[in-house]
Amino acid sequence: MKAVVWTGPHEIALQDLPVPVPGEGEVLIRTRAVGICGTDFEIYDGRFKQAIPPMTLGHEGAGIVEAAGPGVRSPKVGDRVSVECVIGCGRCAYCAEGRPGLCEHGRVMGVSGAQGEYAEYFAAPAANCHLLPPEISWPEAALVDTLAGPVYAMSRVHAPAGGSVAVFGPGPAGLFFCALVRLQGAAAVFLVGTRESRLAYGPRFGADKLIQAGREDPVAAVLDATDGRGADLTVEASGSAAALGQCLAAARKGGSVLIYGVFGGAVNLEVQPIQLHELQVCGTANILYPPAIELIREGTVAVEPLITHRLRLEELPAAFSSGAVERRQGEYAGYMKGVVLP
Ligand SMILES: [Zn+2]
Ligand SMILES: [Zn+2]
Repeated sequence: MKAVVWTGPHEIALQDLPVPVPGEGEVLIRTRAVGICGTDFEIYDGRFKQAIPPMTLGHEGAGIVEAAGPGVRSPKVGDRVSVECVIGCGRCAYCAEGRPGLCEHGRVMGVSGAQGEYAEYFAAPAANCHLLPPEISWPEAALVDTLAGPVYAMSRVHAPAGGSVAVFGPGPAGLFFCALVRLQGAAAVFLVGTRESRLAYGPRFGADKLIQAGREDPVAAVLDATDGRGADLTVEASGSAAALGQCLAAARKGGSVLIYGVFGGAVNLEVQPIQLHELQVCGTANILYPPAIELIREGTVAVEPLITHRLRLEELPAAFSSGAVERRQGEYAGYMKGVVLP
C-alpha cells in the first residue's frame, strides 16, 4: 500500500509498505480522509521531540473498517469511523479518568509511538473508533479531531453566559473556539490575528469584533471593548509567545486564560498579571470526539468552509518539502485546512 513516511528531519517520501495486520483489539481501516495538522509540520522539521522516525504521519483520520482483529465486537466491517489518535494504556489513573492525553504510557498515532494514517490503510484500537453518522462527509470527518480538541478544552474553563471572550489565533481551532463560546452563551466574542484573510472567517463562526494585531494593539482593543475590564476568558490558539502575553494582559481580574496553542520551547512572559489579577491559567491535552461529531452532524458547527485544500497521498511529500503550506505561498496561498483524500 502507499504510505507517506517520515524518515528524519526534512525527509519524507511516498513508500510502498505492507498492509498492516490488525492485532488483538484492533481494526484495519481503509483510509478515506485525514486532516493535515500543524503538528505534522513540526514533526517533519524535527521540532517535535517525542516523534521518532521512521513513522507514517497523519493523525486526524477517518475511513471504513476493512477487517477486525481478535476480540473486536465493534466497530464492524463496513462501518464508517472517525479515529481518535491518542492511545492510552487503559490502566493508569489518567486513563481511568477519561484523560488518556495525560497517560504515563500514552502513544499518539502518527505523532509518537504509533504509526499514522497518511496511508491507504491503517490499524487502530477498536476503542478509538467512533461511528460516523451518514450526514458527515469524508472531508468533514477529517475535521472532527480539530473540533474535538476545543470541545474538550471548553470543559476545562469557565466561560460565563453573557460574558466576553477573546480568542487569539484565527486558525481552524481558534474559529471553533469562537463558535463554541458563542454556543455556551458568550455575549461578546473578539477574534485576534495577524492575517486579514484568516480573520475574515470570524463572523461566520460567531466572532463580533475582529482585531488585527499589527494594525492595533490587541490588549488595548479588548480592554476598550470591555469598558476597561478585560475579557472573562482569553484563549491562546496561535502558539505565539506574544499572543500568550496578550492573553494574560487582556483577561479581566479573576478571569481565565486557556493555553491551547502548542509551544515548542521556553517563552519570556510577564507573570505578574497571573498573580496580582488572580488569573486561572489552564492547559489542555485531551480531545472529546462524541460531542464534536454531534456538532458537525447537526450542522451547529460548519467545518466544510474551512477546507481550502484537498490533496492526494502522492502530493503530500512535496507539500511538506516545499514549505509552501507553512508559508501559505503559491498554490497554498489562503490555506486554512488541508484534507488528504487518498
Ligand atoms: Zn492534529
Ligand atoms: Zn494510561
